[in-house]
Amino acid sequence: IRTVLNTLGIESLNEGTSTGTNSFSTNGSDNVPIIESYSPVDGLLIASVVATSKKDYETVIDAATAAFKSWRMVPAPQRGEIVRQFGDKLRDHKETLGKLVSYEMGKSYQEGLGEVQEMIDICDFAVGLSRQLHGLTMHSERPGHRMYEQYHPLGVVGIISAFNFPVAVWSWNTALAWVCGDVCIWKPSEKTPLCGIACQNIIAEVLKENGLPEGVSCLINGDYKVGEFMTKDTRIPLISATGSTRMGKIVAQEVAARLGKSLLELGGNNAIIVTPDADIKMTVIGAVFGSVGTAGQRCTSTRRLIIHESIYNKVKQAIVDAYKQLNIGNPLDETNHVGPLIDTEAVGMYNNALERVVKEGGNLIVEGKVLTGKGYESGCYVKPAIAEAEAHFNIVQDETFAPILYLLKYAGDVENAIDIQNNVAQGLSSAIMTNNLREAERFLSHAGSDCGIANVNIGTSGAEIGGAFGGEKDTGGGRESGSDAWKIYMRRQTNTINYTAELPLAQGIKFDL
Ligand code: NAD
Repeated sequence: IRTVLNTLGIESLNEGTSTGTNSFSTNGSDNVPIIESYSPVDGLLIASVVATSKKDYETVIDAATAAFKSWRMVPAPQRGEIVRQFGDKLRDHKETLGKLVSYEMGKSYQEGLGEVQEMIDICDFAVGLSRQLHGLTMHSERPGHRMYEQYHPLGVVGIISAFNFPVAVWSWNTALAWVCGDVCIWKPSEKTPLCGIACQNIIAEVLKENGLPEGVSCLINGDYKVGEFMTKDTRIPLISATGSTRMGKIVAQEVAARLGKSLLELGGNNAIIVTPDADIKMTVIGAVFGSVGTAGQRCTSTRRLIIHESIYNKVKQAIVDAYKQLNIGNPLDETNHVGPLIDTEAVGMYNNALERVVKEGGNLIVEGKVLTGKGYESGCYVKPAIAEAEAHFNIVQDETFAPILYLLKYAGDVENAIDIQNNVAQGLSSAIMTNNLREAERFLSHAGSDCGIANVNIGTSGAEIGGAFGGEKDTGGGRESGSDAWKIYMRRQTNTINYTAELPLAQGIKFDL
């Protein structure tokens, strides 16, 4: 890990001597808050990071505001060229950054690499986009007039991100924001501050090599209090916040109170509907990967399986059998399927959810437990669990960020399953497993899934960068990444030009002087 950190320009290594989970402390006489970043993989302290003070924040926002003035004047395709170079640097650093993601966050090395690949992909997407920031032209109702719309850069974009995608979410925002002419300030999760520093070091190199101001990409570190510097700051027209619904509700109100824009990517409670026409083998792969991948800590993780009663026992048995084959352990070891939860607090929430589901009348058919012993010293490794439950249980209505899967039964038509699926507060990802065209189309229709993502014969987990990503209801309504998600990073202007010597008014109004 020393080599990984050094390659990514991180020097302040406190080599693992003590074990614990991320915490704040203050550093001696200067009272500087320090975040100590511990790895959930082995529980060891990786490094200490200085949190951003209000005074430092002012320096950062000044640098960003100044950088915006020159960056917005760089032609968009040239901004795209900078993002292309950034994508190339990410290719060079793919293995090291992927390893750091795995070690600091706890997802598998393969998923760490996948996350960096997503960053590379969004850079490629943004390079093409830099020549396609199109507006429309419209026909004016007035003779000798031309009307069109154009998109201008917005300004400083504030990014607040969650621990579970410690690098990709930042790049989904920044790659687009930069080609749109914006500059960015990022507050990564206080649970993964080193991933933030590594990314900042990579882009800083690109900016330096091109003689561009460092304020184009800024990093601040700390917990929600540092996030609040941005949410309350009228100099930041857009806040893009990824995290829990609880956080999103606070951030949305803070930003709305100053009439800023917010882009919210919040919690999910994702379900797969399994109909009598489902391919069982595909269902099992999709459901097991969806529920145990990243130890159930993806916003798109599968939380609920809604299975038709006629195939319920068959599907249940196949999934229970698949769970028996799961290896739980160090995520950097590629033979393991499930790594640790982010910290011991998350383990507490996992235990609590298991207790609650039983209390509400659920039946644990694959019991959970916290693993101890050699290789599990961090205290963050848990056994993925499955409970038979009912859709209305409070615990089933909630998102628990852990590998717990609820099996729910439905009878009759697919509409009944869609009702169960939609009857939760969240609306992120959804899927149906069926070979029946009518069922699939019903699921995708206006009366079907109410989620931002609706898949047929694919699980709920994961998405491609080419589509707009996000969800409805308590998931926050924001869209990031592909399609036309770029528009939120720009301000739209409608322009009308009169090329005659007359001044006709709109709607035929006469105003003679
Ligand atoms: P969290 O809400 O605890 O924290 C997310 C970020 O918000 C952190 O950087 C945190 O410091 C900051 N924050 C918290 N309160 C704040 C406040 N009042 N003002 C400003 N900033 C504040 O979430 P987490 O535990 O890191 O991540 C897990 C959650 O994120 C899950 O609910 C998951 O579904 C969600 N998530 C959603 C998406 C999506 O795209 N929809 C993607 C990833 C994660």
